[in-house]
Amino acid sequence: MSSAENTARGIAAAVRAGERSAVDVVEEHLARIAGREGEIHAFNEVLADEARAAAEAIDRGDRSGALAGVPVAVKDNLCTRGIPTTCSSKILEGWRPPYDATVVSRLLAAGAINIGKTNLDEFAMGSSTENSAFGPTRNPHDTSRVPGGSSGGSAAAVAAGFAPLSLGSDTGGSIRQPAALCGVVGVKPTYGLVSRYGLVAFASSLDQVGPFATTVADAALLLEVIAGHDPMDSTSIERPAPSLVEVLEAGVDGLRVGVLREMVDAEGIAPDVRRRTEEAAEALAAAGAKVEEASVPAATLGLSAYYLIAPAEASSNLARYDGVRYGLRVDAPNTGLMNEASRTAGFGAEVKRRIMLGTYALSAGYYDAYYGKAQQVRTLIIRDFQAAYEQFDLLLSPTSPTTAFPLGAKVDDPLTMYLNDVCTIPTNLAGDPAMSVPFGAGDDGLPIGVQLLAPALGEATMFRAAAVLEGVAP
Ligand code: GLN
Repeated sequence: MSSAENTARGIAAAVRAGERSAVDVVEEHLARIAGREGEIHAFNEVLADEARAAAEAIDRGDRSGALAGVPVAVKDNLCTRGIPTTCSSKILEGWRPPYDATVVSRLLAAGAINIGKTNLDEFAMGSSTENSAFGPTRNPHDTSRVPGGSSGGSAAAVAAGFAPLSLGSDTGGSIRQPAALCGVVGVKPTYGLVSRYGLVAFASSLDQVGPFATTVADAALLLEVIAGHDPMDSTSIERPAPSLVEVLEAGVDGLRVGVLREMVDAEGIAPDVRRRTEEAAEALAAAGAKVEEASVPAATLGLSAYYLIAPAEASSNLARYDGVRYGLRVDAPNTGLMNEASRTAGFGAEVKRRIMLGTYALSAGYYDAYYGKAQQVRTLIIRDFQAAYEQFDLLLSPTSPTTAFPLGAKVDDPLTMYLNDVCTIPTNLAGDPAMSVPFGAGDDGLPIGVQLLAPALGEATMFRAAAVLEGVAP
């Protein structure tokens, strides 16, 4: 089967035209899952029966949706009604949400089929999917390597052909970094463009849901389906979402693109990753963009600010897992001890580390020195990006410092693991959109992604450049 027929666009067009049945599409994907899921472990749960039933309903009923009959894998921190939603944590054991996340309702309304819930670093904290309580996901390109994280299951599912599309969440890079490591497209939308209603909160001022796809056009299609105002999310932007699919052919002629010096030269950027980023810059210039060097000086402070702000918000958000309201409960003689025993048994090491960091940063004596300072740095980052976007329509950088690394290589060294996100975190702090586009391979033959960054609601411009890069990628 040609790759066009395997894209979400191709599948939806064929199902709408009655040329393919949704049931056949689902069976093909379930067969691929049966073939390789054992070695990859992209899913916490494959929803085979539910997917078959949903496909039959589409074949019998309304086939007009933008994603008619398209299997979509859903990160397991997005609520699905009646279906376990674990965040890859033991603490949510047995919990079944009584409602769908808005993004999930929108998928289903567009005719998409939820084919399964994907593995992640526990509560989306991590960069390799090794922090899952249910064991790691492996990179389909080389199963001795990580898929990246925290949305590693969603990235691997698309890279392995288990679904043409998936949803992830990105708080500091968790869509873009695994997209880069798995050789797929991944998009972190403008903060507020996509509803967070039903996304289990990690760091609420940073979290955004976004798409994974094998093509830029498919990512645009999925983002159009999930974007747009939602009264259930108080941070949702009350403006029409940008049209993306219709601008994909517009090219980059005349666009001003800045190559982000701080990120290309950041500590730890591998030479092959730097080379591919430079080639991407040349490719945009060859397509008519005006490419120059750009600088966002405060971006170098992003990682430090993030590892105060994100754990601070996480420590507050995760206080709700008390052994009473959700999932796991470990009995003990009184309520305080029960809370403690449940949280001790339910949370993994990285989650506990974040809760302790965050609680410390927010404590009375240290609040100004840590959390307050980090918020000031966040303001500097926002201002520096704004200044850069007065000169440039788009910025370009590496997505991840290296290609996919071996399982186990960084688990014992949290700081090295945190460095994976040097290039992705600053946009989360700024609230701006960014995406990773596959751009050739590294010296080890594994995929490399380059990152396009845009000002708030600049998704359309970003997708135009992404389409150009996709067309000329080595
Ligand atoms: N890797 C980063 C972290 O561990 C980002 C995670 C994310 O985007 N959810 O916090």
